[in-house]
Amino acid sequence: MPRGNCASPDGIHGPVEALTAAIDVDTALVSLSHTVFKSAYTYDMAEITRTAHAAGALTLWDLSHAAGAVSVALNAAQADLAVGCCYKYLNGGPGAPAFLYVRADLQEKLRNPISGWMGQKNMFNFDLTYTPAPGLPRFFSGTPPVLAMAAIEPGVDLLLEAGIDRLRAKSVQQTEYLIALWESELAALGFTLNSPRAAAVRGSHISLGHADAWRIDQALIQQMGVLPDFRKPDNIRLGITPLYTSFADIQQAVSRMRTVVEERIYAQYNAAELAVT
Ligand SMILES: *Cc1c(COP(=O)(O)O)cnc(C)c1O
Repeated sequence: MPRGNCASPDGIHGPVEALTAAIDVDTALVSLSHTVFKSAYTYDMAEITRTAHAAGALTLWDLSHAAGAVSVALNAAQADLAVGCCYKYLNGGPGAPAFLYVRADLQEKLRNPISGWMGQKNMFNFDLTYTPAPGLPRFFSGTPPVLAMAAIEPGVDLLLEAGIDRLRAKSVQQTEYLIALWESELAALGFTLNSPRAAAVRGSHISLGHADAWRIDQALIQQMGVLPDFRKPDNIRLGITPLYTSFADIQQAVSRMRTVVEERIYAQYNAAELAVT
């Protein structure tokens, strides 16, 4: 049960103070996104995990917007559980399966609520009573999508070759560059920065707000060759993947956003046809 008022103080940063105050002996699990999908605010995993553990609670981190984008230190933070998807910064492609992390000493203690034959002890015995396999394999269910899993490997190999520290360094430079361009080129046209200013608490995407965000987003996608996505109520979200996003790409995207607003290209689109991908 959510307790207390844990809304973001400004719609951008995580409500760390309120969360910390709300975690007490009645808390079983603290579940957060490491990097949040809308603003890219990134929680201090070690700090929140310490608070949770002090109250006797476990933590579960959603790494969908963090894995492959920021340094994720599950072991150092002593995080308990984590999940995430492989089709964002891990380059697994559409339909890539999700992943699960369970801290080693919890693997024997937790049970998989979605039991299936692959999580069964001695699965080829086809025993009619379910006994979980020892260790991590108990979290398997049915047969995994093998072809989709094979496609993850080259994407992850590229990340490993580049190294997360170098990727993160370039990502910080690129998000800083985008923020500088927002300030000089876009702020006067009604765009707001809906991501944190401080790189230390920011992931690898930038959300820019605008009263006509939905229509601007459509114009960018349909006519300008820029593919951001839209998140209610007014966010244009630009994902920066340092492996293949160049500084010139960022400059061009900003220049095209300018054109869409200055030449009122967005006015060709219907504000009512709101659909999110
Ligand atoms: C993208 C995303 C997911 C993806 O989940 P799948 O079931 O693997 O598609 C989960 N959580 C968050 C916060 C996401 O942004």
